[in-house]
Amino acid sequence: MESTVNVGVAHTVAMIGLTATPVSVTASNSAGGSGFTMPQLPDYLADTTTSGIFAAWNNSDLPWPGGAVEIRFDFTPGVSGLGGCELAIAVAVARAAGLAPHDSPPAPTRMYAQLGIDGSLRATRGARPAAFTASTCGDNGVIVAAADHADVGDITGIAIRPAADLRGALRQLRSPTASAKAPTPPSEPLPKVDLHDILGLVQARHGLEIAAAGGHHMILLGAPDAGAVMLAERLPGILPPLTQHQADQVADIRSLAGQPYVGPGLTPPYSAPHHSSTMAAMVGSSTMIPRPGAISQAHNGVLFLDEAAEFRRDVLDTVLPAVAHQHLLITRYGDTIRLPARLHLVMASGMCPKDHPRRDCNCGPAARRYLHRLAGRLMDHVLIRIQLPDPPPYDELCQQSRGDSSATVRARVIAARRAAGERWSGRGADLTNQDVPVSLLRSPRFRLSATTMAPMTDRFADRTIPVRHETRLLRLAWTLADLDGTNSPCVDHVADAMRLGGFDALGGAR
Ligand SMILES: [Zn+2]
Repeated sequence: MESTVNVGVAHTVAMIGLTATPVSVTASNSAGGSGFTMPQLPDYLADTTTSGIFAAWNNSDLPWPGGAVEIRFDFTPGVSGLGGCELAIAVAVARAAGLAPHDSPPAPTRMYAQLGIDGSLRATRGARPAAFTASTCGDNGVIVAAADHADVGDITGIAIRPAADLRGALRQLRSPTASAKAPTPPSEPLPKVDLHDILGLVQARHGLEIAAAGGHHMILLGAPDAGAVMLAERLPGILPPLTQHQADQVADIRSLAGQPYVGPGLTPPYSAPHHSSTMAAMVGSSTMIPRPGAISQAHNGVLFLDEAAEFRRDVLDTVLPAVAHQHLLITRYGDTIRLPARLHLVMASGMCPKDHPRRDCNCGPAARRYLHRLAGRLMDHVLIRIQLPDPPPYDELCQQSRGDSSATVRARVIAARRAAGERWSGRGADLTNQDVPVSLLRSPRFRLSATTMAPMTDRFADRTIPVRHETRLLRLAWTLADLDGTNSPCVDHVADAMRLGGFDALGGAR
């Protein structure tokens, strides 16, 4: 029996990890047979996808083509990342059925939106990276949900064509209309804060500057009102501004997390999940559109964990791959996606379970047990450990000095990072003292003299500091030298590194 097959193709993107990857969808409508199938997908996924699209189609008063409809992608899809392809699947069917014009070569119209069962185009996480991909592919235009227009309106090099529903999208294909001006996004979400606002806390402010300069992670220990939050919020403002590429990554991650676009800011992001956060909230989830969690939302910026000892242990440990390898892996149904997570970790914790100021604490062994909750492999990556003093009475506080402004500190941070980058890689500020490989850090060329190392080796000899901490103390000593503008750490830098590492007042490693 001879049967005719009508074919329609539409272009969209799949989210592979957090990367919007161009894909095409082909609908084949054959006169013989029946059904609406997606043979490349597992049954449960094909069933939900086809029934959703079928409902949207019917509720748009469109005539479903007779015969069988089969959908194929031009790649082997995983089980995640196809959520934004729904509009393209419906359009491919419409083209096969003769209800919409085919793309005219060489430049297709790309589309990215989820369909509501009422036929509307739903606001779809990831619209921004999708539209970016369309612009780099040299496409003719990109159709997105009208609700996503504000998130993508400032992307150049591509015509943005918002549509409210499936019928509106088909109209856009028949007679493309220039997009109206997108609503202006609001300015950056972080309140303007400055290091200059902070009174006193000289040692902690210095610690923050060292963390920024070396790319180091830190913990602030003290009473809840001792100022840890205030300090952590000011770290993004003293980090080097984002490059355009980093800022684009941050905007893409916000888009995938379902947060509104906040304009082309170059301030590093700040992510501060609550201690009751679940693992999924921290790591993210791999669904029809991958959702980055709090850790990836700190990519290129700061992850602040307040009351760190109150986090569930397994939740806290989700941060470990980020600080050790600068990315996270999520596995679901055998499908593994990789999320970027290059960040500054700042933790804060009270010194005891009852949050006593240090002078009033009578918790004894319970306080030790409380801090011990933080011990482990994560703490091995936290180089700077600072004890905040109890807050003084108000009139005394007002007498305390203010330090440099964030802009002044940031200039020193940028200079120190440049010095480190030139030394380790000769390529500018991209390799920090935190990231430099151990082999390079300890190579003969950068070995410190026995005299310089004496404060550390003495403590190794009398076993008051475990030798395994040598590398992290060396990293800190180099950052102190970079901030001082010297070529190599001196004996004072080594001694200061031990103080910052929590090896004097606290005595030994925690
Ligand atoms: Zn206590």
